[in-house]
Amino acid sequence: MDLGISGKRALVCASSKGLGLGCAEALAAAGVNLVMNARGAQALEASAQAIRDEFGVDVVTVAADIATAEGQATVLAAAEGVDILVNNAGGPPPGMWSDWDREDFIAALDANMLAPIAMMKALLPGMMDRGWGRVVNITSVSVKSPIPVLGLSNSARAGLTGYVAGTSRQVAGQGVTINNLQPGLHATDRSVSLDSGAAAQQGITLEEAVAQRSATIPVGRYGTPGEFGATCAFLCSQHAGFIVGQNILLDGGATNSLM
Ligand code: NAP
Repeated sequence: MDLGISGKRALVCASSKGLGLGCAEALAAAGVNLVMNARGAQALEASAQAIRDEFGVDVVTVAADIATAEGQATVLAAAEGVDILVNNAGGPPPGMWSDWDREDFIAALDANMLAPIAMMKALLPGMMDRGWGRVVNITSVSVKSPIPVLGLSNSARAGLTGYVAGTSRQVAGQGVTINNLQPGLHATDRSVSLDSGAAAQQGITLEEAVAQRSATIPVGRYGTPGEFGATCAFLCSQHAGFIVGQNILLDGGATNSLM
């Protein structure tokens, strides 16, 4: 399917690896030029070069921490006038409800709620003036089905989801759509890190931890960044102009609910 977005420009935050990289690759495959961001310059440039080589699109890289005001300003300086914004950042650490203090919540809110809101506030006006834009926020299955050890993530992402619910309806009339993608378990560095922690806690191997968690997914396996990125690219396409303010679950059927 021709997504109809060849030649457009996208900012994909936190995209040197994992789900963000999956989104960047799928957009590049559709002919979209990219601004890619992550903190680590080396992995970022390596991923960007691989995309340039494979898809022939323009890719600008900005090594910066998207959770900070300075990082956001540096990224925005390179991303002025983009048509597509994919918001992403690393997820907060796991723990118990009693572990977290104000500073922990502020860090989680900065990365997973306030950074995407800041990027939207900066880039939505241009999209609205031009009469076309697409925003996709990478959130989590935890918004629909809270994950007890990820209380910081549950909290910050619920806040972003509330903001998007209202904002998406305020900008839709100017041709701009905002939607959230909710990943369940996907095979990335993040899932390896969480599974390693679970394995150590239970005294089992990483492979056993992955097998245990795969057994909770009706599809029987983790999702891939490629599948995730393809859904993101569709939401950014010309065909998705009537999809507004939705939270789309990509979890292999793991969340057992009617809607
Ligand atoms: P990942 O494999 O660890 O990749 C994270 C990417 O984001 C890397 O490119 C990393 O590069 C970059 N990054 C992290 N913090 C950043 C920051 N502050 N500023 C700029 N770039 C940053 O993670 P993932 O699995 O793709 O997860 C992406 C998001 O989805 C996370 O918020 C995660 O919690 C959420 N999620 C993932 C899953 C899953 O199963 N994978 C499930 C539910 C939710 P640098 O470290 O170099 O900055």
